[in-house]
Amino acid sequence: MNNKLNYAPGPSEVRENVRLARSQKTTNPDIDVEFVEFYKNTCDKMGKIIDTKNDIYILSGEGILGLEAACASLTEPGDRVLVIGNGIYGDGFADFVSMYGGEVVLYSKEYSKGIDIDELRKFLQKDSNFKYATLVHCDTPTGVLNDVGSLCPILKEYGIITVVDSVAGMVGEKLKVDDWSIDIALGGSQKAISAPAGLTIVSVSDDAKKVIKNRKTNVTGFYCNLLIWEGYYEKKYFPYTMPISDIIGLDRALDNILDEGIENVLDRHEKIASAVRKSVEEYGLELFLEKDYSNTVTALKIPESIGALNLRNQILNDYNTLIATSLAEYEDKILRIGHMGENAVLSKILYILNVVDNGLRTLGFEGKGNLVELFNKYYI
Ligand SMILES: *Cc1c(COP(=O)(O)O)cnc(C)c1O
Repeated sequence: MNNKLNYAPGPSEVRENVRLARSQKTTNPDIDVEFVEFYKNTCDKMGKIIDTKNDIYILSGEGILGLEAACASLTEPGDRVLVIGNGIYGDGFADFVSMYGGEVVLYSKEYSKGIDIDELRKFLQKDSNFKYATLVHCDTPTGVLNDVGSLCPILKEYGIITVVDSVAGMVGEKLKVDDWSIDIALGGSQKAISAPAGLTIVSVSDDAKKVIKNRKTNVTGFYCNLLIWEGYYEKKYFPYTMPISDIIGLDRALDNILDEGIENVLDRHEKIASAVRKSVEEYGLELFLEKDYSNTVTALKIPESIGALNLRNQILNDYNTLIATSLAEYEDKILRIGHMGENAVLSKILYILNVVDNGLRTLGFEGKGNLVELFNKYYI
């Protein structure tokens, strides 16, 4: 189970120093105040990477926990919430909103490109009475990238609180939480951050906190209530026992990012993703998206005669290598090459392109040339 190579768009590969960090001897995180400092320091590193002075919390739970916590904390029964979607995660926010009694207004657009800025502006001119809006930075099943840096400030002009799922964007795509007016930004440990799954990262603005504090009804539930974190640092008291080994691992992964420099990390993603897209197209495969590609994942259309699931299985059997197809109706239509975090590395990309090329050939697809050679042509 543990010797497979993994090229899925998350959970992604974990560097050895992160794995080793997680095996360190641990203290008691409930009563050792040094751990509170360590935790706060890890949050500060995260804040530096995503460019925010807002409070950051690391919650014990995989990425989805952050999405639910944001909706649980903000939504009161009957609140109107704008759910902006152009993908499975984007539209999927509607479930969390309605679960907590919110009235969903679904602003759902084609999955083949990013949300159009002017169109949203026009929509808001007619209807802007929303408590908050949800958006996805990179919607992973197709890899579409939304320009949240333009969309969120427009929403804020109308006094709408902005919630951004950047689980698959953060660290692989530029994210400037404060400049971009993102009230609640959500990330996960297991995507471009390249730590194992298990932690959610949440940044919360003062505006968002004010809205949560001004609720007339209490937040339903405990784990998903963001207010339970208020003042934890001053009180040196966590709402529940922190998963210390996970956090030590995350801290090491963030050091890896800071040591390389976030700009260099983003540049590495951009160079690899751009050459992947150009090479697969020249090779004769179609990209799923028309435009607005995320640099963390590339979605390829696989001809029906071959089938994405078939190709995935072929690659697993022949090369002991994991690669993902997509979700729901795209499960057998799209193959996704994950190039996020530790997988956005030249040697690894050369390997997976070679494997995809061989897998396709085995199944009878004749590509126009050699995928690795084509990649090399475009990789600068
Ligand atoms: C991975 C991911 C999440 C986290 O949830 P999963 O349980 O891994 O699906 C949330 N949002 C996006 C956009 C993701 O890519």
